[in-house]
Amino acid sequence: MILAYIQNFDGKLKKASFEIASYAAAIAKMANTEVLGIVLGQIPDDQLQKLSQYGVNKLVNVTSPNLEPFDPKVYTEAVAKIAENNQITGFVFINNNEGRAIAPRIAARFKAGIVSAVTQLPESVNPLTITKKVFTGKAFAKTIVKSDKFVITLFQNSYGLQEVPVDMTIEKIELDLPQPAITVIEKNVDISGKIPLTEAEIVVSGGRGMKGPEYWGPLEEFARLLGAATACSRPVADEGWRPASEHVGQTGKIIAPTVYFAFGISGAIQHIGGVSNSKYIVAVNIDKDAPIFEVADYGIVGDAHKILPELIEAVKKLKQSDS
Ligand SMILES: Cc1cc2nc3c(=O)[nH]c(=O)nc-3n(C[C@H](O)[C@H](O)[C@H](O)COP(=O)(O)OP(=O)(O)OC[C@H]3O[C@@H](n4cnc5c(N)ncnc54)[C@H](O)[C@@H]3O)c2cc1C
Repeated sequence: MILAYIQNFDGKLKKASFEIASYAAAIAKMANTEVLGIVLGQIPDDQLQKLSQYGVNKLVNVTSPNLEPFDPKVYTEAVAKIAENNQITGFVFINNNEGRAIAPRIAARFKAGIVSAVTQLPESVNPLTITKKVFTGKAFAKTIVKSDKFVITLFQNSYGLQEVPVDMTIEKIELDLPQPAITVIEKNVDISGKIPLTEAEIVVSGGRGMKGPEYWGPLEEFARLLGAATACSRPVADEGWRPASEHVGQTGKIIAPTVYFAFGISGAIQHIGGVSNSKYIVAVNIDKDAPIFEVADYGIVGDAHKILPELIEAVKKLKQSDS
């Protein structure tokens, strides 16, 4: 079976949860086997039921008072205990903070080869052969896993959702798990209602070419109209024009939206390292020789301050004609 680690986001399943189920279902099909989904922590049944639409054949919901606060060692123990009672040949995780904290521990525990941050399905599953981007997207590496079991972490938004309705069984298990080794003193929850950058399908980003924080209004309006998250290059965050949480790139967040809009961003390799997994890159830059155009799928040579209002008008018109 393929074990899909389905992340529980405070009692809810999100797109990332369904995406990893979809991805596991596709690998299970290649391997002629089934998907065992695992959800840790309290969550309503109606949330769990949704997973039957994404190819999860057997779902295990593990509860324990020791699953709070999140401690990767305790979570690894829970996943391992469930895996030991099932014939697991492959484990798949979303390549976010939680997945990246558990996946290597599972790989060590099961002596499984691990391929992290992939964006596509394997070419074959026996042995696991998979191609992934390396060197900040400048090259591809074809990787073969020689161990009996494999662990994969998948970039969020890179595979998408594939509906595969199946009959799903749900088993609820209370596990005896070790105490977490950490205590959370304070938690600051983001209540801005904004779409988290790493989960956004569309990201609208600005660089130093935007000239200053006072010019961000149109960029934010464009993002709002598209239901997009906003991002920025590192100098923009360093200058304090935008919050550090929006900085993408080698030293910032690594994202994989469907569309990445880059306004006034030169396209330095350190920036591209964080956005090269985007399905489409749309760049607006005044300099026709800016390196961003080498990686952009669509490019507009022009002044971002003139192009943005035109794009806003175009989206508004499209929305009006749709309604
Ligand atoms: C170790 C290291 C790590 C780094 N990590 C990161 C990282 O994680 N993320 C990151 O972003 N950077 C990172 N950097 C910095 C990176 O090298 C670049 O300096 C940075 O990405 C440049 O930001 P920028 O494109 O906003 O600014 P600039 O390079 O100044 O580019 C501005 C662009 O705007 C264009 N422009 C100007 N006016 C307009 C206009 N009116 N309309 C349209 N276009 C216009 C210009 O033609 C230019 O291409 C790192 C650097 C190092 C050394």
